[in-house]
Amino acid sequence: MTGRADTMLASLKGAGLKLTPQRIAIVRELADDLSHPTAQSLFERLRPTFPTMSFATVYNTLDALVRCGLTGSLRLGDGRGAVRFDPNTEPHDHAVCDVCGVVIDIDAAHADSGAGARERAPAVRACTGFRVLREERIFRGSCSRCST
Ligand SMILES: [Zn+2]
Ligand SMILES: [Zn+2]
Repeated sequence: MTGRADTMLASLKGAGLKLTPQRIAIVRELADDLSHPTAQSLFERLRPTFPTMSFATVYNTLDALVRCGLTGSLRLGDGRGAVRFDPNTEPHDHAVCDVCGVVIDIDAAHADSGAGARERAPAVRACTGFRVLREERIFRGSCSRCST
């Protein structure tokens, strides 16, 4: 997982961002976090170490990673509305637990979303002229812990 953080840091540098200790900490915190954290939750986790850090620093760093294509962002439309950040840039779907709110990555190969998008793309294009590049799905229900 350190490899992922190093790649992210190299790209931020390439994008012209100065690698301050705060930014390095933000990247390292996100790189190993597959729970799809919000900017707010990362901010709160890092604040004890960096009491002078601003929320804008966290948000801008995450935003730069998204623009570099090294972090995904997703909105779950669950009313809370906060953007979740996702260091997993492999194509994948998400499963969201309605009970505890956990967000789980589902390998696209398992959910067969690649094939699904390929099948539906011509219909979408015929109706709307929209060119489908990929399809991202969100499954809702209850996770293994909440189902019991
Ligand atoms: Zn749950
Ligand atoms: Zn994900």
